[in-house]
Amino acid sequence: MNNANTQAATSEWQELDSRHHLHPFTDYKALKRKGSRIIVRAEGVYLWDSDGNRILDGMAGLWCVNIGYGRREMAQVASEQIQQLPYYNNFFQTTHPPSVELSRMLSEITQQHLNHVFFTCSGSEANDTVVRMVRRYWDLLGQPEKQIIISRYNAYHGSTVAAGTLGGMQAMHDQSVVLLPGVEHIMQPHWYEEGGDLSPEQFGIKAARALAEKIEQLGVDKVAAFIAEPIQGAGGVIIPPETYWPEVTKICAEYGILLVADEVICGFGRTGEWFGSDYYEIAPDLMPMAKGLSSGYLPIGGVMVSDKIAETLVDKGGEFAHGFTYSGHPVAAAVAVENIKIMQRENIVTRVRDEIGPYFKKKWAELEAHPLVGEARSLGLLGALELVKDKNEREFFDPKLEVGNRCRDICIENGLVMRAVADKMVVSPSLIIQKEQVDELVELAGKCLDLTQHMLDNTSS
Ligand SMILES: *Cc1c(COP(=O)(O)O)cnc(C)c1O
Repeated sequence: MNNANTQAATSEWQELDSRHHLHPFTDYKALKRKGSRIIVRAEGVYLWDSDGNRILDGMAGLWCVNIGYGRREMAQVASEQIQQLPYYNNFFQTTHPPSVELSRMLSEITQQHLNHVFFTCSGSEANDTVVRMVRRYWDLLGQPEKQIIISRYNAYHGSTVAAGTLGGMQAMHDQSVVLLPGVEHIMQPHWYEEGGDLSPEQFGIKAARALAEKIEQLGVDKVAAFIAEPIQGAGGVIIPPETYWPEVTKICAEYGILLVADEVICGFGRTGEWFGSDYYEIAPDLMPMAKGLSSGYLPIGGVMVSDKIAETLVDKGGEFAHGFTYSGHPVAAAVAVENIKIMQRENIVTRVRDEIGPYFKKKWAELEAHPLVGEARSLGLLGALELVKDKNEREFFDPKLEVGNRCRDICIENGLVMRAVADKMVVSPSLIIQKEQVDELVELAGKCLDLTQHMLDNTSS
């Protein structure tokens, strides 16, 4: 296609999109003014839009395309499974080979005490399942009054009513008419923003102690569980101080409440271990997952369930009145099995831990020299930049300036997907990213920070 043709096609798609499509998490008025970017193709870590621009996808889609785009093996497996058995359910005492095979593999790659899985279609549904399962567990143990789930402000656990309530996103809570009862929130372990004069280590303990204080305040006989992402993703890649998780796990054990590690982002190699829980040596009772489970090739999620909970659900008997038409969908499950096989065959997890993760860490840290960057933090293949007005004083910009969003727009114009969470720029590239591509990502990010700085200098004078 020549240029005039591709542009005509683009504006036609944009026109139709604007007329008929309501996008997720989008300001419709702003989008209408601007028009959508249309992504038509992807390969490895790159995307192509309908105007032929190549874009480095620093986010692996939405934190999910861990094995990279364009894997022919995945297409092959999906095609074969569709021909063999495109759909059957797992209700009413039936099953099929792909969901059995995936269950077995998941129990092998997760910690020893996690040997059962409940399948869902997404991370949100996994967290809805967590709510149902946690409450059923305590009910079966004769403690139905243990209902409250404690979560954290600025956590993200999905967008259904239950998952949105569990999450701590103010904008989502403000737009929900009815939030789920029995959910409480405590502070997040975000030292850079909230640590004040404390050292990260002291602050980590303080943030963890907030859990004990909340349990004391509510009464332990009312508290069922604590849920948290090992590293908060959508909240801005918040990497807790080293002291945080050991203290939290101690508190959960002391009070005998369930610990739920939301592994939707941290799972499947992102931290350089199979799961964020492995990295932090957390032994969760429940482990919701999605995204990297299929590298986003098809929608599938699930909850890993500890032996303690699974045995209670089985031994105490009675129907668990919960499930989805597509729980363990055969095509999605077959694709997830192939995804895990690829990760194992190519040693993708150890490569993140020993090679590309350390390389990324070194390169990413170089961005901290930029005048706009107060902190450049990373772990595995998760990275964040805190954009600040004054890095010596840890002084933030006026949110009305929307520095983060403007930087994000500059990035995409310059061929890089880097997401903004307020004034934090975050990345989560595919785990198969090569060193030269890390160089390219960091170089592009640096260039876009310069352009953002330039724009700010021009608007303030
Ligand atoms: C994305 C995400 C979810 C929600 O998953 P969906 O598949 O979008 O429903 C839940 N928890 C975490 C930590 C996530 O990042």
